[in-house]
Amino acid sequence: MEREEEKATLVNELAALLAEEALAGGENPKREIEKLVSESVYGPGAASKRVNVRWGGLFARGECPSCSNKIERRGEEYVCESCGIKIPADVFDRAREQHVREADRRERELHIQERMKALGLTEDEVRDVYDRAMDLSDATGGTKGEA
Ligand SMILES: [Zn+2]
Repeated sequence: MEREEEKATLVNELAALLAEEALAGGENPKREIEKLVSESVYGPGAASKRVNVRWGGLFARGECPSCSNKIERRGEEYVCESCGIKIPADVFDRAREQHVREADRRERELHIQERMKALGLTEDEVRDVYDRAMDLSDATGGTKGEA
């Protein structure tokens, strides 16, 4: 019984997590920065090329996402003196918030997975928890916030 209760709790928490993810889905300022980096590396019009941005370096240490030198805020932009990339401050700020939210969600999901493991759930049961959580987050349309 306790096991089933804990499972239900995990389903609820996971559903809340998935709903948050769905809500944030349309907003992707990190992608906007990736486009700026692509264009800075590959030239104008290359926005679709994939680049590997080190987000931790950018947000924690102010490292340019393109060349890793120092990036500094100047008025309404973040500017790198070395490579010349410019990131609008509002994009930068929203991307940082997105990064924090994603890290937070990842940590919570890891924690949920650890509890599933501690509970001794089988692979099928884990899949079932995810399925139920997905159904639940769809059904509530992303409005149900807490477990
Ligand atoms: Zn740079």
